[in-house]
Amino acid sequence: MRPVKAIQFRYRASSELDSLFEDFRLMCNDAIRIALKEKPKSRFKLIESAYFRLKEYSLHSHYILSACEIAYSVYKNKNRKTGPYVKQAFLKLDNQSYILNHLLLRIPIRPREFIYLTLQGSDYHLQFIDDPTLKRGSITLGRNNLSIAFSKEIAEIKPLGNVGIDMNERNATTSNTLGTTNIFDTSGVMEVKERYRAIRAKIGRQTRPDNRISQKLYAKYGRRGKNRTVQQLHTVSKKIVQQAKEKKLRIVMENLEGIRKLYRKGNGQGSSYRGRMNSWTFREVQRQIEYKAAWEGIPVTYVNPRGTSRNCPECGSRVVILAERKLYCSECDKTWDRDILASLNIMKMMMVCVVPQAQPSTDEAVKGNGENNNYPNPPSRRMKVVIGQEPTTRQNQKN
Ligand SMILES: [Zn+2]
Repeated sequence: MRPVKAIQFRYRASSELDSLFEDFRLMCNDAIRIALKEKPKSRFKLIESAYFRLKEYSLHSHYILSACEIAYSVYKNKNRKTGPYVKQAFLKLDNQSYILNHLLLRIPIRPREFIYLTLQGSDYHLQFIDDPTLKRGSITLGRNNLSIAFSKEIAEIKPLGNVGIDMNERNATTSNTLGTTNIFDTSGVMEVKERYRAIRAKIGRQTRPDNRISQKLYAKYGRRGKNRTVQQLHTVSKKIVQQAKEKKLRIVMENLEGIRKLYRKGNGQGSSYRGRMNSWTFREVQRQIEYKAAWEGIPVTYVNPRGTSRNCPECGSRVVILAERKLYCSECDKTWDRDILASLNIMKMMMVCVVPQAQPSTDEAVKGNGENNNYPNPPSRRMKVVIGQEPTTRQNQKN
């Protein structure tokens, strides 16, 4: 595994840098125009056809290669809604072209001509800069901050168990195979979101005559609201990954892609409810957990989210929904918290294929496998996948 982590640094930009930003932006747009005309099949084809045009800017040749790389990815981007165009001021350079000595960064302008920038770094930043085992990748400069990609070689840990994570609006609940359940409160995030939603509504009401002002304010408060929520989610994702690292656990989460499809116009839900559901911060928490786990060599698996809060994790029978997010299993005569039950079920979905691998022929393996006890031999890798999918498809068929 070679995980990559981008670390952001603040720095003070100079006027010299401003003209470099502008030149680079024009170079990217030139390269995009050439790409649209020539329709290159690869990045290297684009470099071939754009090289002499971009050389006229008389910048260091690293910039030509980097501009072509950006232009090619913009040109190839299938999701873009408007015409391909680079609007923002930024610079991207590969690891060959800059030199970073502690917090002093040297970037080239023209051959034998450089700009020196001093980065601002906390202890957190320094632990990356001063670690000789980390490999430095490309660097991206914006107007106020720059990010450096660090990568390292790490072996994936052999998990001793699983931790299932159920994400919902108010908390993230984790249950692991060691029997520990934790609830990480994220209701603060919800409050922030609520507050900023009210602010946005107010902006909409008060700036109706001038669209430009409202756009500006929306952007400002949207950014501010996002920064505040993301910050809170980082503390949660950090704790979860920390725990998985200490106990050597595989992280299992619900695959929530497509969850937004459930909350679309015309599905019979009110607009405010829809707005709340579509702004769920799930994906953000998952994204954070995923890259933090990758950095530590912790495996992450996604399972099908269907029916994770429908059956009892102990006996597998259907549960009855009570008030206040409680569920009741009549077989075990047990009342469950909805979030804990879901996290246990998510954890178990993955056990199905991990347990047989570790102990192929014990009773436990068969138990962990649900009702499926018809495999005589230790399962092969190929079979592992098949078994892992089975419980979810069975549940789907029931409905
Ligand atoms: Zn039960």
